[in-house]
Amino acid sequence: MKNERQPVAKMRPDGATEYRCRACGGLCEPHYSFLGFIDHLIRDLSVRTHPLLQQPRLVGDDDIWYQIPGSTKLLPGLPGYDPHVPEWKELLAPKQKIHPQAQVFLPDIGDWLAMALSTLNDLSELKSSNVTTAELLVSIVATTADNFKEQKEYLLRHSAHLEQTGTDPKWLAKPGNQARFVAHSMAGARWGLTTSTSREMIRRTTAAERKEALTQLNITARTARANWWLPDELQTEN
Ligand SMILES: [Zn+2]
Repeated sequence: MKNERQPVAKMRPDGATEYRCRACGGLCEPHYSFLGFIDHLIRDLSVRTHPLLQQPRLVGDDDIWYQIPGSTKLLPGLPGYDPHVPEWKELLAPKQKIHPQAQVFLPDIGDWLAMALSTLNDLSELKSSNVTTAELLVSIVATTADNFKEQKEYLLRHSAHLEQTGTDPKWLAKPGNQARFVAHSMAGARWGLTTSTSREMIRRTTAAERKEALTQLNITARTARANWWLPDELQTEN
């Protein structure tokens, strides 16, 4: 069999994007939500690399529990990834706000948000950070076109973070920078990361860490910087 790169995303005739997990191969259903797909990958990656999940035990016919290494304590199963459920919270180290297996995808979530935000020309009119900018930011995001519906819903669901972004003293006023700034500030909102922590974590995530994670998940990007989660027809070489 030829060792061909298998894309994770493809465009369907109706315009929707279909995502497939290459780690599960044909064993799992396709995903039609980007964030749902990322959550699936976070779970797959955690099962492979999280130190507390390396001693699975089969319980009954098909339940998998995880024995905590060095103890007799068992984690009774693992639901789908959700940073807010107790099973996943238990897998955080003290003071850790986000699982490293999720942090590695923050740049992707940032880029995915930037793709939608960069279509909003009014963003470049926001020159400085203040309360007015915060309010305008929310109303501009509300005008996002339907082809970026998932991004729009995510941003508006975390409108308090959006307002925090609008009053962030580091606001980048240069036209064209705002979309990326807002996107990277908002990527960690779901984990309760402040706008500056979200940007900082994206900066600190190295290309080597990301490559290692993608390799674990059987994902081969066409180029080192390619957005591997975009359908081929939307990818650009840069
Ligand atoms: Zn999978």
